[in-house]
Amino acid sequence: MATIALPSQQARLTGIPLGCARLTASMQHQNYQFPWNLGSIALELRPRMHPLRAVLSASLPIGATEADAEYMHICVKLARKASGFTSPNPMVGCVIVKDGHIVGQGFHPKAGEPHAEVFALREAGENAEGATAYVSLEPCNHYGRTPPCTTALIKACVSKVVVGMLDPNPIVSGKGVETLKKAGIEVVPGVETPICEALNEAYIYRMLEKKPFVSLRFSVSLDGGFIESSSVDCSAGSYFSKLLQETDAVIVHDSALSDNPVLLSAETGSKQPLRIVLSHDLKLPLASSIFDTTSAPTLVIASEQAVVLDLEASSRTGSQSMESLLRERGIEVMVLQELSLMSVLDVCYERGFCSVLLDSRGRDPLGLHNPLGKLAVEERVVQKVIVDVFPTVTGHNRAGPGFVIDGGALPVERVRSRMSGSHVIIEGYLPR
Ligand SMILES: [Zn+2]
Repeated sequence: MATIALPSQQARLTGIPLGCARLTASMQHQNYQFPWNLGSIALELRPRMHPLRAVLSASLPIGATEADAEYMHICVKLARKASGFTSPNPMVGCVIVKDGHIVGQGFHPKAGEPHAEVFALREAGENAEGATAYVSLEPCNHYGRTPPCTTALIKACVSKVVVGMLDPNPIVSGKGVETLKKAGIEVVPGVETPICEALNEAYIYRMLEKKPFVSLRFSVSLDGGFIESSSVDCSAGSYFSKLLQETDAVIVHDSALSDNPVLLSAETGSKQPLRIVLSHDLKLPLASSIFDTTSAPTLVIASEQAVVLDLEASSRTGSQSMESLLRERGIEVMVLQELSLMSVLDVCYERGFCSVLLDSRGRDPLGLHNPLGKLAVEERVVQKVIVDVFPTVTGHNRAGPGFVIDGGALPVERVRSRMSGSHVIIEGYLPR
């Protein structure tokens, strides 16, 4: 019997406890094609990597193994448990591994609470000594609300730290790794960086651009008509419910409220986003569920002109102004000199938000444009586009999805699609 190394067996696979499979040459493994005749020679194979994993692992840094990648995936999964809770901080996950077993794990639950490494080290206890710590983001090296995680890792005597991505803050990037190395700890940075960056795309954007990361969502029919109504599935597990769970604030234009949209995530234990209503005229349907603040807060942002007109109308008719009706219900009202998305996003940034969702529905009073989409495109504030393709043919004789774009079409990159129920969800990014 001979053992044959096939070209597709990457060196990286060697030594990984994935289990071996023995095949005879006359067999055809589902993942391996044998174009040559090997007679009765037996082959010793390890299962081929999942295609996605093969792509991700292609960028593994020197010294990193497939097992390191697997543990980094666990870190990211752990980090996601705090989705929606961590802003302005990032989501971070950490596992401590000793002799091939996870002896401690943790994630950063929310701003002001300990970091992922602290929870993982606490669980590992004495087992942390000589162990490897995996962390999706470079351990912090400064005193914030909590002591530096580099100090905690050094004190726990871990022998190796595997890092998913460096801190995006240019002032401190690489400092954590440097400190650990100086303390004699082996550090392997850059393991599964793409998934770690995707996890915190909003945090990274906020850190670098000093603005929240903005996603624009809208619905279209199969024949490309803009769908104005609010009948977006928001049940648990739907893409929209998950989007609301992840985002810090969701913005709608008041023209969308007549359909009473549901803007609450149905995911168990999720933190609800701040619901922001942009209003040009303060003529609001108070019966709309968005003005029920039992489950989530609501902020109405109006222009100065709208507030003046609202007050004038109330004194003319002797009725209560919309502004005071809203305040009576515990709804925060903010007045901006001019109602631009840029100024609304500044408000979001000041509140520590990393991610903002523009939920684009409704039409302007003339029925011509989608006001929120129009503002977003005109002001060029969007980083990501999320399109919900309804399984319907509307037959609307409308040109495009309700936006007026001057200067030609906007290119969308890194486009991908998935299903949510019977809807196709398409996501892509505007060029950086
Ligand atoms: Zn830390």
